[in-house]
Parts: sequence; C-alpha cells; structure tokens
Amino acid sequence: MTDTRHIRNFVIIAHIDHGKSTLADRMLELTGTVERRKMRAQFLDMNPLEREKGITIKMQPVRMIWRMPNHAEIPNPKSQIPNKSQDPNSENSKRLEFGACNLEFADSKQEFVLNLIDTPGHADFSYEVSRSLAAVEGAILLVDATQGVQAQTLANLYLAQQEGLTIIPVVNKIDLPSSEKEKTIEELSALVGCSPNDVYAISAKEGTGVEPLLSAIIEKVPPPKAASDGATPHDMPLRALVFDSKYDPYLGVIAHVRIMDGTLQRGDRIYFMATDTGAEALEVGIFAPARSPGESLQKGEIGYVATGIKEPERVRVGDTITTYGAGTKKQSVTALPGYREVAPVVFASLFPEDQDDYEDMRDALGKLRLEDAAFTFTPEDAGALGRGFRAGFLGLLHMEIVAERLRREYGLELALSRPSVAFRVTWQDADKEAVTIYSASRLPPSNEIAHIAEPWARVEMVLPSRFLGAVTSLVIGAQGVITRAETLAGDRLHVEAEAPLREVIVDFYDRLKSISQGFASFSYTLIGYRAGDLVRLDILVAGEEQAVLGEVMPSARAYDVGRQRLAALKELLPKELFAVALQASVDGRIIARETIPALKKDVTSHMYGGDRTRKMKLWKKQQRGKKWLKETGRVTIPPDVFFKLHRTNV
Ligand code: GDP
Ligand code: MG
Repeated sequence: MTDTRHIRNFVIIAHIDHGKSTLADRMLELTGTVERRKMRAQFLDMNPLEREKGITIKMQPVRMIWRMPNHAEIPNPKSQIPNKSQDPNSENSKRLEFGACNLEFADSKQEFVLNLIDTPGHADFSYEVSRSLAAVEGAILLVDATQGVQAQTLANLYLAQQEGLTIIPVVNKIDLPSSEKEKTIEELSALVGCSPNDVYAISAKEGTGVEPLLSAIIEKVPPPKAASDGATPHDMPLRALVFDSKYDPYLGVIAHVRIMDGTLQRGDRIYFMATDTGAEALEVGIFAPARSPGESLQKGEIGYVATGIKEPERVRVGDTITTYGAGTKKQSVTALPGYREVAPVVFASLFPEDQDDYEDMRDALGKLRLEDAAFTFTPEDAGALGRGFRAGFLGLLHMEIVAERLRREYGLELALSRPSVAFRVTWQDADKEAVTIYSASRLPPSNEIAHIAEPWARVEMVLPSRFLGAVTSLVIGAQGVITRAETLAGDRLHVEAEAPLREVIVDFYDRLKSISQGFASFSYTLIGYRAGDLVRLDILVAGEEQAVLGEVMPSARAYDVGRQRLAALKELLPKELFAVALQASVDGRIIARETIPALKKDVTSHMYGGDRTRKMKLWKKQQRGKKWLKETGRVTIPPDVFFKLHRTNV
C-alpha cells in the first residue's frame, strides 16, 4: 500500500495546442508507463475523433510510478511558488505547508505515485477541466513559447486558483527557433505572481527539462490530504468523488473516482449518495492509462470502480460514493461538495434520420452523457421530422463533437437543427413569472410577450496591439462593446468585451482569427440576460410552421434573414409531386414567400446505368417517403437540409 505522502495528483492545463498531451507523452515515457514501442504522439488522446481532429475533448487520467533519479537536482523546498489566491489562513496554505514539511522527497530512492489528468484546452470543454481540478492538488500551467499567454491560459489559471491548487508555471516548445523563451517566462511569472526563476522551461517534443519538472511536481505539489481531519485516515468511512464515468456493456457504469477518505475494495457494497443507488464494486482499478484492475483504491488515489449498474442516469458526476457499513447499514457520512451543475448555452434539435432509431438514440444519449456531463437533452416533437431531442451544449464545437460521437460510436444517422441560445420571456401579464425558453418554437404568441431577453457573454481576447482597431470593428459588428483593454506583456493586449451570446457562438472566433492573422485567442463566460429588440422569425412549409427552422433574432435582421432562408430552402428542398409554398413570418406577419414547383422526380437520374441494387435502394427510399407523405399529408424534409442550412449560415 502506498503511503499517502508518496502520492501526487495533478493536471496539465493550457490553451489549446500549447502541448499538454505531448508533455503527458514524455511523462508516460520517462516513468515507463507506456512501453517505447507502443508510444505514439498524443497517446492520451484515445478517442479516434481526438486523434483525427488533433484535439483533446475528454480528460484522461493516468497513473505513473516515478523514482527520483540519483542525479536529479533536488529542488529547493523554499522556492515554493506562492499561489495568488492564497490566504494565509486558508485550508490551501495548510496544505502547502504540509507539502513543504514532507521530507520524504529528500530520499531520492523513494517511489512516488503520480496521477496525471490530461485536459482539453478548448473553451467548449471547460467543464472537463473544472471537474478534473477538483480531483487533484496541483496544476502544471503550460504556455507555448512561440505564442505566449493566451485567453484560455487566463481562464484555466483562474479556475485552478479558485480550486486552491498549487500552480507550476511551465514554458514549452523552447526547441523552436521562433520561440521567445525569456519573454514568455517574464510574462508567465508576472501572471502567476512568482519569480522568473520558478518558471520551468521545457520542450515537450524533445523531452528537454521534463525530468526536473517531474521532480518539481513531487516537491511542490502537496500530497493528498484527508477531506476531514481527526480520525486515522484509513479507518474513515469511504468517500469517493465521481469525476467522470463511462458505460461498458459488460461491467455497466464505470465510475471514475478520486478517493477522498477511506478505502474502496473490490467486492464492497457501495452506495451512490445523490441518487440513492446501491451496487457492488465488481472491479476496482487504476488507469495505466487503460483500465488496470487491482484489489483496492485508497485515500488520495485516482482510479475507477465498475458497478454493474445498467441505468446511466443513476451515476452522476460530482456524486459521492460510500460503502455500506457493518450489517449492511448505510454509513452516516456527509456527501462531498460535488460540482456546480453546468449550464448549456447553445441549443439544437437532434433527430434520427430514421424514426425507427428514436429509442436507440435515447439510449445512446443516456450513455454518452455519462462520459460528457456537459450536455443535456429532452424529448421534442420536431414537426415534419418526427420525434427527436432538444439538446443543450457548451458551444458549437461541443455540439459537433457530440453529434459525431453519436454517429460513430453508436452508429446513428442523425440531423441537427440550427443552433440557438436560450431566451428569457417576460409576459405582458405582469403577474406571470418570466420563463426561459430553449427553442424558438416554444415561444408564446407575440401579443403575450412584453419583451424577450437574451444571454450576453463576456469575451476575453489576447492579441497583438496592432489588431486593436480590427477587433473593435468586429465587436461592434457583433453588437457588442469593448469594456477593457490592458497591456499584458510586450505589445500584446488583453481585451475584454461584452456581446450577445448568439453573436459570439456563431462565427466570432473564426472572424477574430482571420482579422488577426491567427494571432488572437479567445474565451468567453456568460454574464446574464439583457433585453434586446428581438422578434420571432418563423418558416412555414406548405402552410405548416417548421419548429426547427424558427429562430429568435434582432428585428433589424429578421426581414433579410427570412428572405435569404426561403431562397436557400427553395434550392435545398427536394421537389414534391405538388407545388409547395414556402413562407417566412415575423411575429405572425408573413414577410416573404417562395414556391417550389411540382415535379415528377426521377431519383436515379444522376446515376449512369450500372449498379441496379443502388437504384433499387433509392426507389425504395422514395417509395417509403411517398407512403409517409400519403399518410401524413405533409411535405418530407430530408434531415440534412437543416444541416446544410446551418452550414450556409442562413
Ligand atoms: P494540446 O492541445 O495542449 O494537448 O497540444 P498537443 O500536445 O496536442 O500539441 C499541439 C502541437 O504542438 C502538436 O503538433 C505537437 O507536436 C506540438 N508540440 C507540443 N510540444 C512541443 C514542443 O515542445 N516543441 C515543438 N516543436 N512542438 C511541440
Ligand atoms: Mg491535448
């Protein structure tokens, strides 16, 4: 059994592409966790989608064993890096003292257990970062020496400081000729509030400086401390924080846990406090980084427990697992604080292309939510498309990743509506309480609405000062205002702006990148609802309102968008055997119309002879469509039309 004093738990946080996963690779190699011949770049990016897109979307824990090499310079414990948010009387500072007093590290032969969690950098996955922060005591804050401090560096540092973590500032990519090592060290030390001497400089790619960094983790990051003081830690009842989970067809729900108190043994009767669910610990183990079964997990460790639970909704991130006491009585323990619920900011309808897949889709969404606690879903009737789900996401990239995972990992063919934000409706009738509406189609008639408010975001940008003018026009174009601009280091600015979220989520980032030649970075947080001059734009196809095509938007834009959308739909919608009228209405008044002429269509006309089976398939599909049409008397809208509309941005 490892002494708790020889455990170190830490995360690597950084702006996207600053080298987190590459640094993790070097650590896996140095500690011999992954054999050299099995090593591949960004090893911890395990999901095929992560490898393809070259980004991390999931946090990934891994346990490593590190023996301090004899020749390693034992870092000086006095050079403890002060944590900015540190209050001398806080829990945190006690933890730091504990770390500094722990003299075990002076024994260079000692083996240490290092639990590393690699995290995503993109703002859409910040919930992954914040959850992993609660499972560790330290954070490596990595900054690319060719880029300097970026918007997500600031956002992630802030989160780590709030958690009271020990922060180890590291400058990466010093091997690159374009790296500005000294300047970046200056900048980072000023940001963290430490001496430039306490900033580590490494090349994650070549491995330079990574070994001293491992030693620094052992020396600077405090070992796990019992969440409650008093009793001998190992005798205390189990309290394990569920920070993530996954579904396995054989083992049921596998909860990823950080043991805060006590011990978790294979075969224990366990109990999930928030959902009042009992289970058996079928398998207990660590991440190596693949699941590696063992006998038990003890206080301070990070690992997993397989529960056999088949209902994904019974296991929630942030829940506390405890054991049944002697005589199978539930232990009387206090639940851990858990996590704040994350609020999705972007909503879209998801529906199966084939209605027969509806149940499978619900099942898949439930399982995927275990691994991605940041999205939400509720059933929705999507008009001509049949049944589907209204789902909430943290941003557009998050939405795309969820849709793509449903396609690949669950084999579902699905379509997505245009994404939108949630709105707050204040009623004409002053006695009625304001409500939040997640879909334009759920808005009440305009004569009942006093006003509609929409979410606003605070946008943080880091950019070279020569782009300030261009960024100002961009913010104004997005109906926002610049609220602050300060010099960060050298000629770079930290600019803060406020703008409606609907503008921020669409293509703000792409445009920011292009006007700044790729130099600007950005992150955003919600700052609440503000009233705006907003109206409801509806699209009617053959006289029927199409819920998933409706949208709330500024009145100044509704007319143009309404016309453009009809024109695009006229092109995108397949012709029917009868003429189809398309109409756009704003607050109930028709503002534009188009007609799709009737056509007897030959669905195989684009195919040159040849493969008859493929033709048969298309004819069959058409047959099915017609049958449905006859049954419902409605127009068929191929699900991909919605996707194309959102791509063409009208
Ligand atoms: P993450 O998004 O922070 O996980 O970043 P990755 O580890 O995926 O790295 C992003 C890119 O930077 C990859 O192409 C890496 O090969 C590259 N990279 C990471 N560290 C270094 C380094 O020290 N030197 C150089 N030259 N490239 C690096
Ligand atoms: Mg990564």
